Amino acid sequence: MVHFNYLSEEEQTKLRQTAEAIVAPGKGILAADESTSTMGKRLAGIGVENTEENRRQYRQLLFTSDEIMKEYISGVILFHETVYQKADDGTPFVQILKNRGIIPGIKVDKGVVPLMGTDEESTTQGLDDLTKRCQEYREQGCLFAKWRCVLKIREHNPSPLAILENANVLARYATCCQQAGIVPIVEPEVLPDGTHDLERAQKVTEKVLAAVYKALNDHHVYLEGTLLKPNMVTAGQSCSIKYTPQDVAKATVTTLQRTLPAAVPGVTFLSGGQSEEEASINLDAINKYPGKKPWALTFSYGRALQASALKAWSGKAESVKAGQEEFLKRAKANSEAALGKYTGGVSGAAAEEILFIKNHEY
Ligand code: 13P
Repeated sequence: MVHFNYLSEEEQTKLRQTAEAIVAPGKGILAADESTSTMGKRLAGIGVENTEENRRQYRQLLFTSDEIMKEYISGVILFHETVYQKADDGTPFVQILKNRGIIPGIKVDKGVVPLMGTDEESTTQGLDDLTKRCQEYREQGCLFAKWRCVLKIREHNPSPLAILENANVLARYATCCQQAGIVPIVEPEVLPDGTHDLERAQKVTEKVLAAVYKALNDHHVYLEGTLLKPNMVTAGQSCSIKYTPQDVAKATVTTLQRTLPAAVPGVTFLSGGQSEEEASINLDAINKYPGKKPWALTFSYGRALQASALKAWSGKAESVKAGQEEFLKRAKANSEAALGKYTGGVSGAAAEEILFIKNHEY
């Protein structure tokens, strides 16, 4: 029988094992893949200049925090520059992570670009040389990747064009990764910008995810060797109705039940502008929510794992330890939330701060 050009059994097994290791019980991802300009905004917030050295110092703080980190964090998403940086003692960051049993990952998208003729909708670029770039990152030790697509809720958005285009580009990205032995994390983020209620957010997220999985199937993506990184289903940032974490959990789990194949090993939610504490509480509620959940449900947080750490550090050499302690506190809280065992109330330098950024870029 002809199998065309498909992954071998051995390649499939490796991808599946990596995906499963990333979503091992009580573990999740640290998203530290801020682009140089996004990192600049984070550093500006604490009065630190956006230089390569300061970015290196900050990432070093995160990656060299206490060994206990590996109990909570299974993988770290890096930005291109970070893959080639080293700690003060000359050890490459990738090696530091690997020595701890933490899997290095890489952001491979090249950012969003406008879709002509739409109401400010976008697609994500970076496909042209992607297989080659993935092979290079694989040689550097990265075993998984991320690619972020963005969808907006407005009166007539997301349009069928934006839904279709972004689903297709995510599927093409996923095939490039898998051919290079890299687990693709598929990230269709429905932004929280807007006044829409929870019901609308749920309907839109369902449509988006259904289109994504249709496209992944059309492109013969090996689902067992992928992960999904979606938004939690929350009401718009400016919605006047207030919902409980249980409401968010119900909307999120229902959406996934309706659209996400059981073959996918896990979901690693983005934090999307929620405060650190909100992101932990909502993840916990999602895991406590009763019903069918055939996937691991965990975190891949950027802002909600770093806000307190950044603030406590503030660029001062004498505050590295304080920054690391804040990071580990949040990592532990999210590890518990991923098991549905978070009791809440872990404080922090910025634990309650709303981390929402309008029309967020990464
Ligand atoms: P936030 O958790 O800050 O939303 O970022 C996660 C991420 O990787 C977005 O692409």
